[in-house]
Amino acid sequence: MEQDVSNVVIIGSGPAGLTAGIYCARAGLSPVVYMGSRYGGQLMLTSDVENYPGFKDPVTGPDLMEQMRSQAERVGTKMIQDDVTEVDLRTYPFVVKTPSEERRALSVIVASGANPRRLNLESEMRLMGKGVSNCAVCDGFFFKGKKLAVVGGGDTALEEATYLSQLASSVTVIHRRDALRASNALQKEAFSDPKLSFIWDSAVTEVTGERKVDGVKVRNLKTGEERSLPFDGLFVAIGYDPNTEIFKGQLDMDANGYLIAKNETETNVRGVFVAGDVRDFRYRQAVTAAADGCKAALDAERFLKESPAVIR
Ligand code: NAP
Repeated sequence: MEQDVSNVVIIGSGPAGLTAGIYCARAGLSPVVYMGSRYGGQLMLTSDVENYPGFKDPVTGPDLMEQMRSQAERVGTKMIQDDVTEVDLRTYPFVVKTPSEERRALSVIVASGANPRRLNLESEMRLMGKGVSNCAVCDGFFFKGKKLAVVGGGDTALEEATYLSQLASSVTVIHRRDALRASNALQKEAFSDPKLSFIWDSAVTEVTGERKVDGVKVRNLKTGEERSLPFDGLFVAIGYDPNTEIFKGQLDMDANGYLIAKNETETNVRGVFVAGDVRDFRYRQAVTAAADGCKAALDAERFLKESPAVIR
């Protein structure tokens, strides 16, 4: 097994991780990014991105990530396409392991992201970015005046639905039970929204459409009745799973598994910083994740200034 020591190891290659790489590299810290076996994070499943500043014309999610990756590499970030499977943050230097190597690190930036939960339908994945979305703020703009459905009954679903109702002609929330999990305040707002309606006790069994969404099949879970309903888009808003499994017992996290930080980037372990959706369940935007990556990198740099072991 290869063993190496690095100033900064960054776990994750979405906008947070790659921005952290760019800043650390330009600070002369020779950072290493573990990209995961699939690099790029959630943007790799996004079609047109119109809200990332600096691109006059829409850029696809994969193109945007390729630009960030090339930029990070050009300024000197080492990229390793491997999954981090284990960390030891109780020893110092910290230890980060993948199936093929073990690396010690003077500081770590966790930017491992969060995965939107899926309905696990073949048609959902086939039409992802073609009418199926997980992000109203990202994609709502493309559905002005359209008829939309949102799946879910929690805070995210109602926030997405009320956001979308400002743009769409109508929004139908499809929920598997007859009671919402969302906060009372969000429920009140949703129930008083004239463009919003609900289908209760129901599951989406298929998203229909060849090249883009034209509707969904919905099954009533109490009666078994199935019907096809026309929609121009489907927003799946059934929660997120932050990628924090390998940090359990070492980094503080909330009941939903999101990492907890003070001063935005500092975890409970000195020298371990956090950036992006693995902490932030509020904004979840590429631009906010990138900003987080910058902050974590600057904080790691400040931390390393006090370390006599930094390798230049
Ligand atoms: P959540 O609270 O876990 O709600 C997920 C919703 O999706 C639930 O209604 C659940 O149904 C439904 N669901 C889960 N899996 C499903 C499936 N396979 N098929 C159909 N429906 C499914 O997730 P969240 O709404 O993302 O919220 C996560 C956390 O972030 C919560 O603590 C929330 O309070 C917080 N949050 C807060 C705000 C805010 O304060 N403004 C905004 C967003 C999120 P059941 O109800 O039947 O389980």
